[in-house]
Amino acid sequence: MVDSLIIKNVNILTMNSERQIIENGVVIVKDSTIEDVGGEELLEKYPSGNIIDGKNGILMPGMVNTHTHAAMVFFRSLGDDVQDRLKKYIFPLEKKMVDKSFVYFGSKYGIAEMLLGGVTTFVDMYFFEDEVAKAAKEMGIRAVLGETVVDFPSPDSKEPYGGLYYGERFIEKWKQEELIIPAIAPHAPYSNDTEHLQAASALAEKYKVPMMMHVAEMDYEVEKYRKEYDMTPVQYLDSIGVLKENFIAAHLVHVNDEDMDIIEKRNIGIAHNMGANSKGAKGVMPLKEMYRRKLKIGLGSDGPMSGNTLDILTQMPLVAKVHKLFNQDRSLFPASEIVEMATIGGARALNLQDKIGSIEPGKKADMVILETHSVNMQPIHDYYSVIVYSANPSNVDTVIVNGKVLVQNKCLTQIDFGELRNKISQWKPEIN
Ligand SMILES: [Zn+2]
Repeated sequence: MVDSLIIKNVNILTMNSERQIIENGVVIVKDSTIEDVGGEELLEKYPSGNIIDGKNGILMPGMVNTHTHAAMVFFRSLGDDVQDRLKKYIFPLEKKMVDKSFVYFGSKYGIAEMLLGGVTTFVDMYFFEDEVAKAAKEMGIRAVLGETVVDFPSPDSKEPYGGLYYGERFIEKWKQEELIIPAIAPHAPYSNDTEHLQAASALAEKYKVPMMMHVAEMDYEVEKYRKEYDMTPVQYLDSIGVLKENFIAAHLVHVNDEDMDIIEKRNIGIAHNMGANSKGAKGVMPLKEMYRRKLKIGLGSDGPMSGNTLDILTQMPLVAKVHKLFNQDRSLFPASEIVEMATIGGARALNLQDKIGSIEPGKKADMVILETHSVNMQPIHDYYSVIVYSANPSNVDTVIVNGKVLVQNKCLTQIDFGELRNKISQWKPEIN
């Protein structure tokens, strides 16, 4: 029998439905699962096991990054302030540079950054997604991974829409993996035609896997569907029958009330990428109304070329502050609601709320300890406020995924990060 893991001397933000907080709490983990959650009395009930002393830190559910392209770390800090970056800049760079090894090492580096920042589940869409899956499996993180489908030849396909073929093989290959949920990811409505969007949806239906896409992010996207169909992007996607419960939409910046009716009815997941949307000057998603409707909302970093960092702690204050400012309402989105979106909200967006997103018996042991002895972490009058407004990724001390300790004392336990950093420094993007 495997020894239990006993986490003690922590202040637990359970994020259960009562939003219970247990000070000086204890969590017992058996194999991959949370066995018990409570106060110090649990130490008597479970006398033996490997002990993690949380040193009066904050134990919270692992954060969920609902949208990224991890391998793009190689492009971080390139062209941050360039106009119409996607078509003029990103697509040509990808055509030139992206191959298997780029995706494998880039993803590995991105996953290292996510783990060190307290992310225990991430959603990725890119090319050569098989390499992302290999990297994720080696690193031990939980992941929802979708192969990109686009209407032009891509780095892993000579033919337009080759991602559909690659995607089906990818799903078949990874479907049985414990921590990996394979998916299909058409890039966006405007980079796919109706027929192929429906084919991607049929593929997701056939294998019972998620489908994810950038939706209603670009102004030219809105214009295209208005001109061609007199519809919004959300209305168009609904009219062709692809919006289902397994659908995860990233961005949804340009949506109206009618769109929100559709999103609510179809019960799709939402990845809110405030860092990318604000830097890209895309607009402000109507989060206030979406939250009021109890839609399935999680937070995302987007790719490191858009959101720059891959952790979710960086996104949280941005989400709170921009929506407060936009609505001119200081009381909007109290810190507890922001932490909710970063954890159980993200889990809901991925339909994984029965498995992850809170610290409760029976759930998978995906948890993070934030240390509270650094200068920015004291004093603590409100745990949620400290997480949202004071903490940063450097406060992440311990990260557990599926019962396995992957970060301890702020270091990765499985790999030598210095070696990985040296490896990725060999790639130098060349810009024309
Ligand atoms: Zn994206």
